[in-house]
Amino acid sequence: MIEQPYVYRHAELAEPDWRRLPGWAAVTTQEWASAQWQRSHCVKNIRQLRAVLGDGVDEAFYADLARDQAVRATMSMLVPPQMINTMVPQLAPADPGFTEALYADPVRRYMIPVFSDRRTDWPSHPHASRDSLHEAEMWVVEGLTHRYPTKVLAEVLPTCPQYCGHCTRMDLVGNPTPIVDKHKFTLARDDRLGAMIAYLKANPGVRDVVVSGGDVANLPWPRLEAFVADLLDVDSIRDIRLATKALMGLPQYWLTDEVRAGMERLAATARQRDVSIAIHTHVNSAQSVTPLVAKASKAMLETGIRDVRNQGVLLRGVNSSADQLLDLCFALLDDAKIMPYYFYMCDMIPNAEHWRLGLGEAQQLQHQIMGYLPGFATPRMLCDVPYVGKRWVHQASRYDIERGISYWTKNYRTAVEADDEHALDREYEYYDPIYLLPESGQEWWHAKSADLVAADRASVRAEPVPAPA
Ligand code: SF4
Repeated sequence: MIEQPYVYRHAELAEPDWRRLPGWAAVTTQEWASAQWQRSHCVKNIRQLRAVLGDGVDEAFYADLARDQAVRATMSMLVPPQMINTMVPQLAPADPGFTEALYADPVRRYMIPVFSDRRTDWPSHPHASRDSLHEAEMWVVEGLTHRYPTKVLAEVLPTCPQYCGHCTRMDLVGNPTPIVDKHKFTLARDDRLGAMIAYLKANPGVRDVVVSGGDVANLPWPRLEAFVADLLDVDSIRDIRLATKALMGLPQYWLTDEVRAGMERLAATARQRDVSIAIHTHVNSAQSVTPLVAKASKAMLETGIRDVRNQGVLLRGVNSSADQLLDLCFALLDDAKIMPYYFYMCDMIPNAEHWRLGLGEAQQLQHQIMGYLPGFATPRMLCDVPYVGKRWVHQASRYDIERGISYWTKNYRTAVEADDEHALDREYEYYDPIYLLPESGQEWWHAKSADLVAADRASVRAEPVPAPA
């Protein structure tokens, strides 16, 4: 009998042994379980990475990383021990082949990008930009994006316990890098959060708030609890989603007594008021789903919140095959009780072309994963189209595969189009990576790119696009 394209096997979750890493050989189970220990041992630079991995890694890797940090990285380095430990889980740095395995590792590929990962022909798309989704343009108060009619995004803080190389909010989130100065909020935090609540009280058409950042795990718990309690006091709010990659990157935080007790209080109030609170996390690879992550997810569900859902990002070399996506979805669903929900296409930020998939590839992945997972847990592949919003990847109205341009329409006005009578008739463009295009399409972009590069990269220094070979 011919095998199915994907063969499901339940894989037991396993916590990789951190003691295989020389820098953490003496770390106890109690230390590892401590959120404070995890935060204070995050890897923030090459010196610290070397101290953890020891001498087993080739010098060329560190040089590759240093070059990336100097000329390409849009995010600074910040990786919790929990995430480092899931890289190359089967090998110790002294084992033969560790450096090659580290280069190939899916978690390393997006958390610790190196120069040789990236495209040299088209490191950025000519239309790439900081804040590629134009969220700041749609701020109704600083940090509150009102893009959809009934829902808002509240960016409550600009930091995370971990920084992902492909972060779509590279404009705002994290520390500056040699090529990117970060946007700074101008209002004090409590003034901003207060203004957000006031806006929501004055706009009862909004029923759904995504509380994000950054990552809510970096807001001191009492402040986060107070903000969510204020949201629960707004009569029109029915859904509250807390965005935290730290459920995976720093599950120890979500397992602390303070956070569990606080979430129980919020969940009880939400139930009384008929509001749903959910956690939305961001897991991109099956190997990130460990017993500690499952424990944190289940602890949150036990507080009485409605759900824990995953919004991953499609990244080449990380989860760009149907097998990788299905392995991840089953790991989330079977043992961590995390609902596979969305996979976003990677946004058009600078220096992301090596990660981004073309629309056709995302459509193909959607097709390939259908029918294996329960319908309620089959994630949608999404394209977040600038000035439009989230669209299922099959919703493009037209697709020029020669030039890699897809065209999209919308059915609501964003805050910036309140008076634009043509907003719903217009087509909005999204662009595939140019190196994937047929030769004729690449030539078209080479001819067009000089003007666009000058216009679109004003705030990000990048190497010029080379002439065609
Ligand atoms: S956790 Fe989210 S906001 Fe923070 S760096 Fe990663 S993608 Fe960006």
